[in-house]
Amino acid sequence: MLKLKADYVLTFKEKSDILLNAEVLFDKKIIKVGYNLDETPAVYLGKNSVLMPALINNHTHLEFSSNKTTLKYGDFITWLNSVIQNRENLFTKCNSKCYKDSINEMKKSGICAFGEISSSGNDLKYLTKQPLKVVYFNEIIGSNPAVADILYQDFLARLENSKKYENEKFKTGISIHSPYSVHPVLMDKVIDIAKKEEMVMQTHFMESNAERLWLDQGKGEFKLFFEQNFKLSHPLIKPIEFIQKFKDTKTTFIHCVHANEKELEEISNIKGFISHCPISNRLLNTGLLNLENVKNKLIDYSVATDGKSSNYSLNLFKEIRAALLMQVELHPKYLAKDLLKAVTINAAKSLGLNNGSIEPTKDADLISFKLPEKVNDIDNLFLQIILHTNEVDYLYINGEEINL
Ligand SMILES: [Zn+2]
Repeated sequence: MLKLKADYVLTFKEKSDILLNAEVLFDKKIIKVGYNLDETPAVYLGKNSVLMPALINNHTHLEFSSNKTTLKYGDFITWLNSVIQNRENLFTKCNSKCYKDSINEMKKSGICAFGEISSSGNDLKYLTKQPLKVVYFNEIIGSNPAVADILYQDFLARLENSKKYENEKFKTGISIHSPYSVHPVLMDKVIDIAKKEEMVMQTHFMESNAERLWLDQGKGEFKLFFEQNFKLSHPLIKPIEFIQKFKDTKTTFIHCVHANEKELEEISNIKGFISHCPISNRLLNTGLLNLENVKNKLIDYSVATDGKSSNYSLNLFKEIRAALLMQVELHPKYLAKDLLKAVTINAAKSLGLNNGSIEPTKDADLISFKLPEKVNDIDNLFLQIILHTNEVDYLYINGEEINL
């Protein structure tokens, strides 16, 4: 059992968000939060210290972590072609050191859990031997009916293999790459599995204008792309129909930059989540998600880094700082609080994890760090945290201190 005391304790529990000079008592789980809790001596984390739930990066592609300057940024289709061209090389280049460096970057920046999209299964052996919690999304991709069965069998083999490693820190999930890249028959098959086995799901949705034009009208830059690469002359599903397939599942729709009103409403209706990846969207020049709209539709959103295939870093503090500076329509003070909730409690809900807030019975997944000075206006606390934090001093997962 351990009791920590900090100048600022952020709980992200309903209503009481900030507690000053408060204590948190925990073992594997949070036991109590507040003042003068019991006889256990408290460890004081120091002047201007912050204690809060550890961060959750709910959407990554660690398979691509070896990318630094290989992929082409600035235009979505140009980038996609460069991914197809370099995919195998980048996978081969990502060796055990490459995975280790990615995990180190995440844990140093206070991340206790992440959602990994795995298209090959190459990452499995590295991710089962590291200290962070993982939700491992086996991804299905492929729209050609001639090879659908081969792709499905490969997917099933990867899924079964990953299930062998399930434990309190490793969960399996299912990802459908996108509405444009997966045959509807395959979608139905894997959604059935997710429902039966109560697995969480993720899918990329409306990332680019090219996707919008292709799915709505069978036109635009994707037309040539599909004809050349996949011999496909028309889209196979309408976006609304695609969203409705996920009814009665726990699904996060990644990006949604070009999702329209009706689609956001439908995501809200089926209680879907949205993950916002502003740096990735900026680098591929696809536009900016309308967060105000997402909020108005009462959709829980999280923020994630996506993979290093479209980012220079896996640090979530950097990602939410980018969101804070890019989302100019929203008031920085209130947006800052929402962004910290996005990478804690909201991300936990989207992955089905029992963490993301400091309250009794939740997993003791906590971080602590120090602000450079006292915060004079407590209403600015969330904003100052996002401006001044890159790395943390302590990370606890299930109550255990992790070596940083
Ligand atoms: Zn992604």
